[in-house]
Parts: sequence; C-alpha cells; structure tokens
Amino acid sequence: MPKANTPFCLVLTGTGTDVGKTVATATLLRCLLDRKRTAMAVKIVQTGINAQDEGKSCASDSYYYHLASAEAPFATATTLHTFPLAASPHLAAKRVGQSLSCRMLAQEIKDFVLAHAHYDVLLFETAGGLHVPLSEQEDWLTLLPMLDFPVVLCAANCLGTLNHTQLSLDALERSGCEVLGLILSATHPAPDETEAIIRNNNLSLLKNRQSRLTLCSLPYTQLSAERMADLAQNLLPLAEVILAQKAYRPKADLLERDRASLWHPYSSVNACPPLSVVRTAYANRLVLEDGRELIDGMSSWWCAVHGYRHPHLESALTRQLARLPHVMFGGLTHAGAISLGERLKSHLPSALSRVFLADSGSVAVEVAMKMALQYQYGIGEKQRTRFLTPLGGYHGDTMGAMSVCDPVNGMHQLFTSCLAQQIFLPRPACRFDQPFAEQSLDAARQIFAQKGQEIAAVILEPIVQGAGGMWFYHPDYLNGLAELCHACGALLIFDEIATGFGHTGKFFALEWTRICPDILCLGKALTGGTLTMAATLCTEQVASGICANGQVFMHGPTFMGNPLACAVANASLDLLEQGSWQQQVQDIEQVMRRELAPCAGLANVRDVRVLGDIGVVETKGPVETDRLYGFFVDHGVWIRPFNNLVYLMPPYISPLEDIETLCRAIYAALAETGTGAEPRA
Ligand SMILES: *Cc1c(COP(=O)(O)O)cnc(C)c1O
Repeated sequence: MPKANTPFCLVLTGTGTDVGKTVATATLLRCLLDRKRTAMAVKIVQTGINAQDEGKSCASDSYYYHLASAEAPFATATTLHTFPLAASPHLAAKRVGQSLSCRMLAQEIKDFVLAHAHYDVLLFETAGGLHVPLSEQEDWLTLLPMLDFPVVLCAANCLGTLNHTQLSLDALERSGCEVLGLILSATHPAPDETEAIIRNNNLSLLKNRQSRLTLCSLPYTQLSAERMADLAQNLLPLAEVILAQKAYRPKADLLERDRASLWHPYSSVNACPPLSVVRTAYANRLVLEDGRELIDGMSSWWCAVHGYRHPHLESALTRQLARLPHVMFGGLTHAGAISLGERLKSHLPSALSRVFLADSGSVAVEVAMKMALQYQYGIGEKQRTRFLTPLGGYHGDTMGAMSVCDPVNGMHQLFTSCLAQQIFLPRPACRFDQPFAEQSLDAARQIFAQKGQEIAAVILEPIVQGAGGMWFYHPDYLNGLAELCHACGALLIFDEIATGFGHTGKFFALEWTRICPDILCLGKALTGGTLTMAATLCTEQVASGICANGQVFMHGPTFMGNPLACAVANASLDLLEQGSWQQQVQDIEQVMRRELAPCAGLANVRDVRVLGDIGVVETKGPVETDRLYGFFVDHGVWIRPFNNLVYLMPPYISPLEDIETLCRAIYAALAETGTGAEPRA
C-alpha cells in the first residue's frame, strides 16, 4: 500500500445496539495490525462510563480495542467523548450540561485525522444504530455524510437480521454513504438447531442479495487477547478491500482530468480558470475534495435558497424517483406538474393563468418571447416583431435571450449577423432607495412614440437587474413602463428568474409594484437549487391570442414537466410556504447592511447596496477576479465576483455569523488591494 498523507478512514456502524459492533471493530483493528499497518480504533461517543474508567473498564469499547492490540508500539485506541449516563449520546451529554452537534463532531474528527496523518487506517465506531440521536435534531445519519468516509455495517446474526440489515443499508444509500462491507456477528451461542439454520440462511441470503458488498461473519467467542489472532482471520476479506481502496482512490488528478475534457461557464480552454473540486455540500457549506469547508455566499447562482441537501427536498426527490423519474409531457400528465402549476399561480396575480414548464431559464425566456410574437401574430399585429429592453439586462445565453441581453455583456458584436436586432433603453437610472424621478421614463416615452408599432413586448428583470450589473431600481419605473406598454399595445414580460422566490424580500419582485405583467418567467430557485427547471406564465388574454384561429403554441422541450423537478419544486414551495424565509431574509439584509457598510469607505469602492438577501459592493474598476477567487477560497468562503461587482446572495438558512464572515471577507479582499483604504473601526 503506497503511503499517502491521509489515512484511510472507515466508519463502523450497526443495525442497533448490542449487535457486535465493538468486537467487530476490535477484530478488524487486529486484522490490520497483523498485516503490519498502523491503525487505530476511535470511539466517537462512549456513554455509560466515568471518564476515569475509560479504556480500563470492560464496559468501555476502547477496552476491547486495547485487548485486540496489546503489543502494538503506537497508540491503537482512543475515545473522543465519554459520558457517565448509559443512554443515547444526546441524553448522556445533556445530563452533564453539555450538547453535541454534528458540525462540531465533524470538525473534531477532521482535526483528529489531520493530527494522525501518519496512520494507514483509522476506524471510527459509532454508538448504536443510524437513527440514534446526537442532538435534538441530528443523528448519525446527519453526521456520516458530513464525514463522507466509507462505512461498514455491523449486524447481529439472529432472527430479524435481514430486515434490520436491509433497512439500514437503504438508509445509508439514501444518505449518499458508500458502504464497503457487512459484518454479521453471533452475539451469543446458538441455543438450538433452528437458530443455527436461521444464521446460515441469513448469511447465504445476504451473500446473494448484497453481492456488491464484502460480507464477513464472526463466530461467538468470549473475547480474550489469545483468541484475537484466530478471530481476525474471519475479517481478512474486508481488510483486503480496505487495503486495496487506498490504491485505487487517486482523486488528486481530478483537476487535471477536468482540464483535459471539460468546459466551464464563460471560460477559455487556453487560460484555465481557478477551479476547486467539491465533494459534498450541506446547509450553507461546500465541502471540497481536500476536506476544506467553504461558507457559501452564492446559493449556487441564486438557486439553493434552502441550502444544500435539505432533507425535505431530498425525500421528495427520492420518493418521486421510486415512482416516476420522467415521462414525456406530450399527451401525458402527472399530479406533480398539476400541483406545481396551481401552486405557482396561487403566489401570483390571478390574471397569470397559464403555466408553461420549461427546462432552464434561457428556455423560459425563449418561450416568453415566442409567446409574445405568436400573440401579436394571432391578433393580427404582424408588424410587431421586436423587443424593447433596458441596457444592463441579462436573460440567458440562447440566441433569442442573448438578443435582449445587454449588448456588451451579451457580446452582441460577436453575433451581430445572427441576433435579432432589438431596441434598447438606457438602464433605469432611479435608485430603488431614492425618490422616483419622472424623467427616468423619458427615453421610453420617446421610443414608444417613434417605434411603438414595431414592439411586440418589453422584457426586463423587475426591481433587480441581476447578472447584467446587480442594479436595484425604482418600482415606479415599472409602473410607468406598464402604462406605456398598455397604451401602445405592447406586452410586458417580467423575467423573475433571478428575483423570484424571496431574494428581494418579497415572494416575487413584482410585489414591489402595483402591476401584473402579461408574461412572467421563473427559474433558478424554483427547485430550491436541486434540478434544472423553469416556468413561463401568461394571462388568459395572451393565451387566447396565441391560440386564435386554431393555432397552437409552438414549443415542447423533451424534458418538459420533468416529474423529479416538479416534485422537488413542490417541496421547495412547501418550505417557502412555511414562511420562515421572510424573517431569515430580513435578518440577512440587516447584517449585510451593517457589515458591508464599511466597504463604502474603501478608496476603490463606488457603491454599496443591499436589498433582501442581495448584497452588492461595486468597485470603481474591474476586480482581479482570479486573485479574489483564490483569496476567498483561502479564507473559507465561496464568493464569485465578476467585472466590478463583488456580491452575495447567500442561502436563506445561513447562520448570521456566517453572513458576517462573508461580508468581512469582502472587506478584507478589497482592502488588501485598495489604495488609501480607511482602517476598519
Ligand atoms: C440566470 C438567468 C437566466 C437564464 O437562466 P438559465 O437557467 O441559466 O438558462 C435568465 N434570466 C435571468 C434574469 C437570469 O438571472
């Protein structure tokens, strides 16, 4: 086995208490030691033991680890937490006025692994079965995915074993844990022939059903130092698997392999952008391949509003997966899509009565534009073929969407010959937080007067221009624009793909205005950041215009109404409808206002603005993105600045101290390069 700088870590857990887990751990330890490996067994939480008896009393698990490894010249056993009360960890900790949390335990275990980098193998033993609580809210199934170590499941070989084993394996699989093997132990002598038959049958059935797993069994033994060597022979197949694992787990080359084959967003294959490999994520944390954790400030491009791997979203997804992952939407329908359509409507002005489910934001925008064109055609306004949109907008990367993006950001010069030529308005100048200036609408009035009859629709992002500049503008601009559209016969399209589902402090940004658009695009946070899905809604007037004279609406993506995406979108709405997002967004807004304010004092900063969970620091010139990406990852936060914008849009469930950390990282990053930065109070 090549010596790597991280030990191979394994968790041993059980189908319940008293299933032979400790004997199995001690025996596996012995087996590895006999194969000349440096190995240690670690009891994560030991209950029912006074600290001074730890390792000495036969009631403590580490006693057996010592017994199994008496002559090893290095430490082979330890316990991280010991509590006197013989009960589940959360009760035992509570009795002595303490509490455990998975985040704390995960950190402690990671630190332990770093401090024992010279070991070949570390075996971590849990306490009891998978759903044994570690705190009021968390159990081992919360902790194991955070650790992301492979697991060996231990079960007592007796009546009921198949049921408990299968249920535990199912739960481990659903939690994303990699199960390496199974150890079946005889925890007492077989009393009669029936018991012997049951035990043999358990073994042969499991061998067949779980052929992917390495299955070992341990006979009943009175454990003693003398018997250990013999007993250890039973676990040789498992030890072989463990020792082989390290050899074929070369993850360090992931970056090289990525660079040899993949594109990343907006990147060149010649100049490799900085890249980090993410192994897993939970709540507002991204876990990198090397074990580092980053506080997420981006919600994965504004989608993951409930954080990562929210249990409610995960269970909706797994339940749907078991029924119907996908079916075509042409001629077929399903309950998930129907509920989703109804529920989206229930959060929007009642005039928006038709829902078209699309597979990404850009497609939703294409659908909206085609709806507007087909509507104008349908009502006989065939000359209305152009779109009017403000500069600084962003609507996606497909050809139609690109034609209404800001011409500079959308790189129109590259595509001039094939992009539809749309009409552009100046960026809405009036700030969200200042009195509305009527002249902000002058340009629009002028264009409507000159070209009003060519305009099929106005398309724009209400209140917040997102990827085109993170700009917040006044609701009255939208109120005025709606009147102009109405008077001229142009439709109004709101692209709420970025602003929807709470980011601006309202469920939808249109709630800041007194208007209802004719067409509305939703996307991004629609599925809580789990799957790609978007929706385009329109009024009955638009729908009947499109469908006049026996026409049909000409769009139908292959994955339209995907049942998995519908299920997780419905689950995300469940969470939003519980309503805690409102307070969370308000609290985040308050912390960002306070903590980003000092950035305004930096010499290179032009503006600081905050609305809902969107916090923006605009610099005077473009930021050195590559240096900042590195700075942020080194400081344990995930923030992706672009152009002259360093911004946050964190998951709503983020702890407020993490919001502070994110804001302070931005200050530190900008102060480091800024000239004449005022010292922070
Ligand atoms: C992200 C975004 C889109 C495009 O959505 P994709 O899912 O990336 O295609 C469109 N409009 C707005 C406002 C967006 O923020």
